[in-house]
Amino acid sequence: MKLFLATVKVFKEVCGMKKRFSAEELRELRNLIPINTVIKELLSVSSKISDGHFRFLCPLCNEFQTSTNPSTNLARCYHCEKNFNPIDMVMAVKASQFIDSATCLQEVLGRSRKIKKMLADIDQRA
Ligand SMILES: [Zn+2]
Repeated sequence: MKLFLATVKVFKEVCGMKKRFSAEELRELRNLIPINTVIKELLSVSSKISDGHFRFLCPLCNEFQTSTNPSTNLARCYHCEKNFNPIDMVMAVKASQFIDSATCLQEVLGRSRKIKKMLADIDQRA
């Protein structure tokens, strides 16, 4: 019985830590951070502009046959024929799980909102 209770406690601690994201939160994570920023600034993936398009080194095949679409906020590799939203991109580059990748992007979003608010407060006082 004691062992059973200890097991339940461990289960709750470990599984309770797993954050859940609402559909709205996931929508924000996929849309509010520009995909080019995720690739270039956040993940430091090699990138270049060619033919007027932002190209990045695909984390799956290491080819530059890629482009991004700011209107859908998706990145595409024509070689792998795969689309990446910001969460997919973090998972592919960091080889991390979905929850960890989403948590990481949410942290970025939270901090940038704090900074924006700080700047707005400074503006108001000036
Ligand atoms: Zn690829």
